[in-house]
Amino acid sequence: MAAVALYFSDIYRSLRSIVIGMGVTINQMFQPVVTLQYPIEKKAMPERVRNRLYMNFDDCIGCELCANACPVDCIDIEVMKAPATENLGVTSTGQKKRIYVTKFDIDIAKCCYCGLCVYPCPTECLKMTDVYEFSEFDRHNLIYNFSTMTPSEIETAKGKIKVFEEEQAAKKAAAAAQAAAAKAAAPVPPSSPDPSSQTPPPPANPDSGNAQPNT
Ligand code: SF4
Ligand code: SF4
Repeated sequence: MAAVALYFSDIYRSLRSIVIGMGVTINQMFQPVVTLQYPIEKKAMPERVRNRLYMNFDDCIGCELCANACPVDCIDIEVMKAPATENLGVTSTGQKKRIYVTKFDIDIAKCCYCGLCVYPCPTECLKMTDVYEFSEFDRHNLIYNFSTMTPSEIETAKGKIKVFEEEQAAKKAAAAAQAAAAKAAAPVPPSSPDPSSQTPPPPANPDSGNAQPNT
């Protein structure tokens, strides 16, 4: 008898569980949908979200303020001072470019999206975007190369710097030689007699007429 009661009790509990579960399911069918069908549907990002960095290389003046501000050292910059005679153009903010930026890499895999590099940039060429889909299978692909200078352009720039430095050194040497020649050609002023080398006057002769008679 107890076994039969247990049998029907199990059936009751099973049916009750199914009814409760289906009640939850049916209730959720009439709730607003919150699941996004990503990647077909995408969530709108907040206006000031900080995701992937964007860099406008044309406006970079190579000041390295961004690299110095980065707390994780993920910005790698190499620069060369351009000759004064070279015209590198101006940025969109009107600043004259005087430095070749031969390398500007950002390792976005290390970036912590703090935005500290964005604020010190004097030409506002760095900004954080709302792009968050940039995963890669190879982490080396997460090192972004922003410099547009090709190896041949870098070699050409190095050559110009070398020529300029040689010209400057030659000008400096010529100016020094000219100054030395002018100094050598200048008349030497007559030297005044050295008082220490003069012969002292002889002592007065007591027998001379100037001597005073003994009284
Ligand atoms: S956002 Fe922060 S961590 Fe990323 S590059 Fe800029 S300073 Fe470095
Ligand atoms: S702070 Fe701006 S201008 Fe200066 S090196 Fe960085 S990106 Fe270029």
